[in-house]
Amino acid sequence: MKTVYEILRAKRDGQELSKEEIGFLIKGVVSGEVPDYQTAAFLMAAVIRGLSNPEMAALTEAMRDSGDAWDLSDLAPVVDKHSTGGVGDKVTLVLAPLVAAAGARVGMMSGRGLGHTGGTLDKLAAIPGFRTDLDLPRVREALTKVGAALFAQTDAIAPADRTLYALRDVTGTVESLGLIVGSILSKKLASGTTGIVFDVKTGNGAFLKTVEESRALGRALVDTSRAAGRQASGWITDMSRPLGRAVGNALEADESIRVLRNEGPAAVRDLCLVLGVDMLRFAQPALSEEEACRRLVKALESGQAAEKFGELVEFQGGDRRAVDDLSRLPQPRRKVPAIAPRSGFVQSIQTERMGFLSIDIGCGRRKREDTIDFAAGFLVEKTVGDRVQKGEPLAVVCYGERPGPRPDFELEVANLFTIGDEPVTPPALAIEKL
Ligand code: URA
Repeated sequence: MKTVYEILRAKRDGQELSKEEIGFLIKGVVSGEVPDYQTAAFLMAAVIRGLSNPEMAALTEAMRDSGDAWDLSDLAPVVDKHSTGGVGDKVTLVLAPLVAAAGARVGMMSGRGLGHTGGTLDKLAAIPGFRTDLDLPRVREALTKVGAALFAQTDAIAPADRTLYALRDVTGTVESLGLIVGSILSKKLASGTTGIVFDVKTGNGAFLKTVEESRALGRALVDTSRAAGRQASGWITDMSRPLGRAVGNALEADESIRVLRNEGPAAVRDLCLVLGVDMLRFAQPALSEEEACRRLVKALESGQAAEKFGELVEFQGGDRRAVDDLSRLPQPRRKVPAIAPRSGFVQSIQTERMGFLSIDIGCGRRKREDTIDFAAGFLVEKTVGDRVQKGEPLAVVCYGERPGPRPDFELEVANLFTIGDEPVTPPALAIEKL
């Protein structure tokens, strides 16, 4: 067996690592024998050289087996959704209560922010008191009593991913199909959910920017999950613009609650319906797509979805009153518009850059130990295809506890928008079903 040093050199030079070598490395990552700097070197080599299909499979397996596997089969079906990450992607907060209100059990293990993308756990933490550190008995109780649970990876589930995820987040090693597959599937397969819908983002705000790359990622996620005995489907969805209006933790919690009350932006609602139909049909295969959609719409219109979120928030220790009274969420101290420098149509938005700017005002972490400013974020007032007049706000910058990161920050935000004379048709939200 090679030493860790030799394994790193082999990967650096483009050699394919064996299953045993990857297993050995991952065991060392979890035991601490492989220090962070060697792990980071492996990650960088994996991003630059890529991982072959056998390497990807070996990595997924080693990461999954680095901890416990939960068994939820007696509660089956337990359905789940996983997004590959985007800007303004608050879909989990809506989908869990929505699909549960429509009659399925929903268990979702979520993560913190990664790279330029916001993390569901950080969005949930914006709800006062909300706890995501549920152990298996508590998740089971939530699934039984509420019908939904939103929880963080415990120390025992795929611990290798915890380490790799946190290092990737701060070492520029996120954008790798193989590392993304290993990260997502190690957790999903260990968490015991029985049906998974993958929301594979594509476009300038996604980790993988082209439809071809996103399709390859989606296929790998769906095929590997099915091979592991799970129901799985996947959608390629647009991330060439932020999803909805809100970017930032409390702002996204607020927008999610509005969607659950049937008041939120159509884009978020529509995407949740597309993904929710697949989730509901995993649980109730006799339902047609139309009937599944009707049930979800009814859950929104009748108030049951918002009510279910209230139950979930309460069960998980949060302040349920925030669901009725959004002013209980952390509020920005200052709101400053980012103004359109000219009239025309929004041609494009630098969405990934918007994600990084949101971190600059406190929505995410640059270093592992950084804290979050929950109230900070952006309200996106104009999206791709919209007509705008000179002087109108393209976005509103919401400052939380912290002052702006630099002078003229709003100008940087305005510069993310390209405005031209030609009308533009934005891409479909749900681009392709895998
Ligand atoms: N979500 C994850 O859990 N991991 C990734 O690498 C990307 C998105």
